[in-house]
Amino acid sequence: MRLEGRVAFITGGGSGLGRAMAIEFAREGAHVAVNDLRAETAAETVAMLEGSGHLALGGDVSDSARIAELFAEVDAAHGRLDVLVNNAGVDRTPDDGWDALLRGELQLLAMTDAGWRRMLEIHLDGAFFCTRAAVPLMQRNGSGSIINISSIAGLAGMGQVHYATAKGGLLGFTRSLARDLGPHGIRVNAICPGAIDTPMVAGVPAPMIDALAQATPLRRVGRPSEIATTAVYLASDDSSFVTGQALSPNGGIHIA
Ligand code: NAD
Repeated sequence: MRLEGRVAFITGGGSGLGRAMAIEFAREGAHVAVNDLRAETAAETVAMLEGSGHLALGGDVSDSARIAELFAEVDAAHGRLDVLVNNAGVDRTPDDGWDALLRGELQLLAMTDAGWRRMLEIHLDGAFFCTRAAVPLMQRNGSGSIINISSIAGLAGMGQVHYATAKGGLLGFTRSLARDLGPHGIRVNAICPGAIDTPMVAGVPAPMIDALAQATPLRRVGRPSEIATTAVYLASDDSSFVTGQALSPNGGIHIA
């Protein structure tokens, strides 16, 4: 098992990719702290996991005080942290001009201040608050792996403007921290999935998803397990010399 005895914290683990990563991490021997905004879905994920020592932690990643409490809880339970996955995310925020986009109008001009800010808060403030809380625990071991879930939107500008901006920001966060934390034995990488079959994508009109699948060389959307196995690679010693990188399991829709 590639993550035997390691402690991993996964944000947004009550659904989709976060749940798939929690399942795969536990199968590889990890103790998984599953966070989600919706505490009940985090608990549902924990109930699906093999092994022991898993925690369900309700809380909003953009609430810095709450995040500090959750990492203290993990520290009290396990006394260590080996892996952080900054995965929590949304593809829409209230009043973000989505309806205008569907009408073929410019989303930028229909976007409100609140819609823009909420997107950046969840993805960027969230990753910052969790990483700031995680690093002191990893420093104690002199090792760790941080995985930021970005997107092809962040790599190639595909998708909505506030989402692509947040996901692009996560790549800057990844690269900067890889340099700062490398001397502490902590690796920082990003995963930039293409379209993957999760509840998030189920909310996008079917013709849009069909068009995306047809534009993909492998002619399909991805499965959550295909992101989870990439995350296991980055979390484990298999990737011991990999830091500051963005891996993009995307079926070939974006080839850098
Ligand atoms: P999902 O909607 O199935 O799951 C996202 C989870 O994050 C939900 O359980 C939700 O409750 C949680 N969450 C949302 N806001 C939160 C907050 N403020 N604090 C804590 N938890 C919060 O979506 P998914 O497809 O599994 O997406 C997971 C990540 O992958 C997201 O960051 C998303 O942007 C990214 N991503 C997804 C795809 C895709 O095609 N599905 C592609 C590229 C990137």
